[in-house]
Amino acid sequence: MGLVVQKYGGSSVADAEGIKRVAKRIVDAKKNGHQVVVVVSAMGDTTDELIDLAEQVSPMPAGREFDMLLTAGERISMALLAMAIKNLGHEAQSFTGSQAGVITDSVHNKARIIDVTPGRIRTALDEGNIAIVAGFQGVSADSKDITTLGRGGSDTTAVALAAALDAEVCEIYTDVDGVFTADPRVVKKARKIDWIASEDMLELAASGSKVLLHRCVEYARRYNIPIHVRSSFSGLPGTWVSNENPQGDAQVEHAIISGVAHDVSEAKITVVGVPDKPGEAAAIFRAIADAEINIDMIVQNVSAASTGLTDISFTLPKTEGHKAIDALEKAKGQIGFDSLRYDDQIGKISLVGAGMKTNPGVTASFFQALSDAGVNIELISTSEIRISVVTRQDDVNDAVRAVHTAFGLDSDSDEAVVYGGTGR
Ligand code: ADP
Ligand code: ASP
Ligand code: MG
Repeated sequence: MGLVVQKYGGSSVADAEGIKRVAKRIVDAKKNGHQVVVVVSAMGDTTDELIDLAEQVSPMPAGREFDMLLTAGERISMALLAMAIKNLGHEAQSFTGSQAGVITDSVHNKARIIDVTPGRIRTALDEGNIAIVAGFQGVSADSKDITTLGRGGSDTTAVALAAALDAEVCEIYTDVDGVFTADPRVVKKARKIDWIASEDMLELAASGSKVLLHRCVEYARRYNIPIHVRSSFSGLPGTWVSNENPQGDAQVEHAIISGVAHDVSEAKITVVGVPDKPGEAAAIFRAIADAEINIDMIVQNVSAASTGLTDISFTLPKTEGHKAIDALEKAKGQIGFDSLRYDDQIGKISLVGAGMKTNPGVTASFFQALSDAGVNIELISTSEIRISVVTRQDDVNDAVRAVHTAFGLDSDSDEAVVYGGTGR
């Protein structure tokens, strides 16, 4: 029996009962002969509540102190979980990200893991302990300050530890039975996927399926760590995410469409009246990049012949909206645009599937389904295995359901159970 890393999300440890339930599961894995490393998130919506609190004392909390605050959430759950395990008669020790050797760059609020040195975890395991690690946090190699990995970052902590400790599997325990063909909170007839290729999961995660974080899937793919996403509330097997199909490609056919993802966490900025000449887009996106903001879709309109001016729209996380507007206003003189428009009432719907590469009808059917549902499209972007559109936020749920049905993804039964969480 080898080493397993188990990650429990906030909804799995939302209250004392949840912590005790999870402690039993962990002890069972230990009793089955595994060495167990647990990564735990903050209880329930603690992180959101801490953010709300910070916003009451400062309009745009950020940086070092914000990270200090947010990491407190995971410290609470890790200590309580260790106590609950000890109460069941087993040895457990909790560790902050820094103590567990999660080394990051120094970008506060969305740091990247650059190294994992889990010496203390190894020692704790060798001494017979269950090791509990606070997810979503690390320590900067340069500044020695505490950092966080961005929302949902505990998934990345889990996979990074699994890679560093050469675990046989990384189990992600959450409040649904695995990865479904759409968010079960939106599509009751979503179907559980038994196995999904890392490539497809990467696109779903990047398109907003928050059941797994994009960076976590990226990490798992690079280090070839199989992920098992499953519910901490049921004993059912979940979804395996791996580079190779565990049963061999011949037995399980690769689905044409893997699923429908949606995302309402983005906003759209339109830079109005940009001179249509070389260097303008470069100047706009240099200003954005210098503010360390990641953008998603970009669209440039055809310029009006009479004015020689064009508009450039792009999407970005809502949380970066203010920063982006500030950065562009500062660079206005150099870029030379008329005005900025900010719209945070947008939503994105994406259809993902490796089969798209060879099925030319997919795009047309996708647009037809949206049109039949009366959904207006504002932006479009595609990759080899994904089509995404931006719509009004209010249309997103209807659009997801319409596309899910149009592509024959609805299951015959209502198997998509949501066991907990608030969907926040
Ligand atoms: P945790 O607290 O365990 O990290 P998250 O809320 O981050 O949980 O992720 C689980 C949630 O992801 C589910 O409750 C579900 O609403 C959402 N979700 C979105 N897309 C999917 C999908 N394709 N399959 C399963 N869950 C999804
Ligand atoms: N607690 C953090 C969050 O809510 C990290 C996580 O849950 O993965 O984003
Ligand atoms: Mg999560």
